[in-house]
Amino acid sequence: MKTGTQTLLIINPKDNVGIVPQTAGIQAGTILNGGIEVKEFVPMGHKIALADLPAGTPVVRYGHVIGYARTPIYKGSWVGEHQLVLPPPPPLGEIQYSPAKTNPLPPLEGFSFDGYRNKDGSVGTKNMLGITTSVQCVAGVTNYVVDKIRTELLPKYPNVDDVEALNHNYGCGIAIDAPTAVIPIRTIRNIALNPNFGGEVMVIGLGCEKLRPEKLVSSNHKDASILYLQDDAFEGFDNIIGEIMQTADLHLQRLNERRRTNCPASALTVGMQCGGSDDFSGITGNPVAGFAADLIVRAGGTVFFSEVTEVRDAIQQLVARAESKEVADALKAEMDWYDNYLQLHSVDRSANTTPGNKAGGLSNIIEKALGSVVKSGSSPITAVVGPGERAQKPGLNFVATPASDFVCGTLQVAAGMNVHVFITGRGTPYGLRSVPVIKVSSNSRLAGRWFDLIDFNAGPIAEGSQTIEDMGWELFHLILDVASGKRKIATDTLGLFNDLTLFNPGPLT
Ligand code: CA
Repeated sequence: MKTGTQTLLIINPKDNVGIVPQTAGIQAGTILNGGIEVKEFVPMGHKIALADLPAGTPVVRYGHVIGYARTPIYKGSWVGEHQLVLPPPPPLGEIQYSPAKTNPLPPLEGFSFDGYRNKDGSVGTKNMLGITTSVQCVAGVTNYVVDKIRTELLPKYPNVDDVEALNHNYGCGIAIDAPTAVIPIRTIRNIALNPNFGGEVMVIGLGCEKLRPEKLVSSNHKDASILYLQDDAFEGFDNIIGEIMQTADLHLQRLNERRRTNCPASALTVGMQCGGSDDFSGITGNPVAGFAADLIVRAGGTVFFSEVTEVRDAIQQLVARAESKEVADALKAEMDWYDNYLQLHSVDRSANTTPGNKAGGLSNIIEKALGSVVKSGSSPITAVVGPGERAQKPGLNFVATPASDFVCGTLQVAAGMNVHVFITGRGTPYGLRSVPVIKVSSNSRLAGRWFDLIDFNAGPIAEGSQTIEDMGWELFHLILDVASGKRKIATDTLGLFNDLTLFNPGPLT
């Protein structure tokens, strides 16, 4: 029998399960320092029952019920996914708006970063040329021309960081009049307006597609340019490429005039997201991100949190945090829309959790959601942004998106984020070309193995050697440094970039 001082992580005094923090797991027969004998080997991140739990007993973590015991669970045994009965999600119609009583956080002053100011008031953290496309048919050409711009034009414009083909799989073969078509169309339009593209809009279309390129350019973008590959004036491929290069050159000249200037931290628009989560995400990475989120909001900045299926089970908490009844109703409306969207395809929010989540100790979507919302911090929710819309209001915004990493990231780019904070426990090389993605590890084992892919390790919190507050400040300073271009993140150094991926809930034709 192994006796010792091994302890479990217990988040809330109401919890009847504890989490194994030890990298090597805990062996059967170990006596925990609370006197509990561990019945079987339990790996890192997984749950151990702190008491005998007869069948039907609520299993409590984070102070909330994450499920009910399917069969009796004995003190000291492993509490896994198969032992939990998942209750239905909170019915939206029964949730009343009664605002949580919170003490307003004091404003935070004196923090700034060096960014690129835009005419529309937004601030970029990179200086990029984005080439918008109206249809997938042109992607081969835009990829070709972007390579050519990078090698032949960018050396002439040292103040421009990069060029990106904003390719996607929409544009033709689509039900353009379906009510849901508004989502991918406004997403493409708003991606082009991301602060990192400096207000320079350049669209390449084919000519015969359903999505007309003109629909992607707003009337206040007088300098925008549109080219059609089918234009009668073109004679052959070289002629087409030459024309695109000339147009790109005009936009690059203007982008090259941009300079970083000192901007207050209120110009930050930080998108929070998690992916490849494990049981530590809700204990380390997400609370650190949440602390940094509160600092940004206190500084007058904007923070996004997203991923509808990962907040659905925490909706009561979120409704109570809404700044007004209108915001509360908008939150419920986004949940309701998504419930119907899933139902249409005969699934529910439980389809969210992945084999990796489960191997990392997250038994079901309730447990995942309770850990996931922590990254939104504690500020009131000031606005709800529909998928593909651009955020308009500073403060904490709920940006409604699927939880899929690259789809959520794409929609947050459209909403106007200029820095992305991405928390992972299992690890993912996810990155975006247009917006820096700060990768936060929830555990030191991942940060050690992926030393050159992870930018920030929140693992020491689980080991008890760091506090959420100290690491939250550290992450806030890292966000400012990355926004200033002073610190380069792993995916930018290595050149790892995912494709932009639209959310198209509508049919193809
Ligand atoms: Ca995600």
